Amino acid sequence: YSYEWEQLQTKLPQWVEASRKQHVHGQVAAYIPELSKAPKDALGITMMDGRGNTVISGDCGCVFTLQSISKVFTLILALMDNGENLVFSKVGMEPTGDRFNSMLKLELVEPGIPFNPFINAGAIAVSSLIAGNSIEERYARILQFLRLLAHNDRMDFDQDVYESESATGHLNRSLAYFLMEKGILRGKVEDVLEVYFRHCAVNATCADLARMALVLAYNGYDPIRNTQLIPRRYVQIAKTFMTTCGMYDASGHFAIQVGLPAKSGVSGGILTMVPGRYGIGVVGPALNRMGNSTTGVHLLETLSRELDWSMF
Ligand code: GLU
Repeated sequence: YSYEWEQLQTKLPQWVEASRKQHVHGQVAAYIPELSKAPKDALGITMMDGRGNTVISGDCGCVFTLQSISKVFTLILALMDNGENLVFSKVGMEPTGDRFNSMLKLELVEPGIPFNPFINAGAIAVSSLIAGNSIEERYARILQFLRLLAHNDRMDFDQDVYESESATGHLNRSLAYFLMEKGILRGKVEDVLEVYFRHCAVNATCADLARMALVLAYNGYDPIRNTQLIPRRYVQIAKTFMTTCGMYDASGHFAIQVGLPAKSGVSGGILTMVPGRYGIGVVGPALNRMGNSTTGVHLLETLSRELDWSMF
């Protein structure tokens, strides 16, 4: 163990408890009714190094849905299935500065092309690029990819969260129909939405996020199984988007205060990494106005400041 790792083992519990107090400044997401059942004051973190050593603290037993964190992996899979040129003919590379589900600025310079693959419109466009002949096949390929990266064959989607979002996802439906009209989507709109809702509803723990993030931290190479799982270039693209738009319209703030590639989701999860060193998974369901975990962001700010983690 390095000196830093030892320092983490001893200090992490007190940092977690200090950050947990931030839950009073947040709210659990309720626009997907099922998500409102999450424990508001929970906070957990798992970190994993390249040898598979882990440091855990807080409520690591929490199971939550990936939500927008899944968008990192559907982007990578869409790139592996189609290559860069095709993917970037359907989705842009620019941050929006708007809410994740915004209908404002839906179109980049080209008509109909969403700004980036992490806003909902862009992620729905990406979901339609996943190879497969049916909803089942496309979802199965996404799930298989997530399981491979998390090294966890039990991962699957949460039926209740999926149904809850599908029943109330009117805005996502309207975004998808808009994209269809513009010729951006492949296949049937309702099929694309079903794949999208399912991958957003895949259950995970902090340990799953840390394990997946570790592969990104090593540029697509799995240091524990000694295999390249993702082409380096596609991880580079994903990490760049994580840095410029991974934390919704607080991505600039997060880049300054934490300085690590990260992706958050409305369930309160954050997947992040110290490049070349650790994969990190955090969960804290209380969200700030920007849609990021209040407790999770506070904890990562503390860690980055104390351990000098910023890439910049
Ligand atoms: N499934 C969620 C939605 O589309 C994901 C949102 C998020 O985590 O940002 O609204």
